[in-house]
Amino acid sequence: MKIYFSEFEVVTSSRLEIIDITKMVEEVVAKSGVRNGICVVHLPHATAALMLNEAETRLWHDYLRLVKDVFKPDGDWQHNIIDSNAHAHLASGFIGQTRILPIKDGQLVRGTWQNILLLELDGPRHRRVVVEVLGE
Ligand code: ZN
Repeated sequence: MKIYFSEFEVVTSSRLEIIDITKMVEEVVAKSGVRNGICVVHLPHATAALMLNEAETRLWHDYLRLVKDVFKPDGDWQHNIIDSNAHAHLASGFIGQTRILPIKDGQLVRGTWQNILLLELDGPRHRRVVVEVLGE
């Protein structure tokens, strides 16, 4: 079994933002040479998250609105006593920082409306995206 490790950087420009990283992950899979296996996409961050969903900007606005409604950035959170980003930690923890996709015949197996989306929850920042490809 081959194990291929790679990472790239995404520079975000807003406090809350969604960035489509599908192409960058697909490039890593192509470079890995793995035809059948799995692809682990991971953010080594506690204030950003990963989702698989549609690349549609109105829906992205809806997602960001939902995040702000549920994890209120100006909420009375304990963590904000020592930092000002409790909402980002909370949303990141609930949404998750890792996604795993199958690889079949050299392609990520994903639905038409399943792009790989990075949610910036406490930007702007430089975010590392780790991609590990395992298979044959
Ligand atoms: Zn914090």
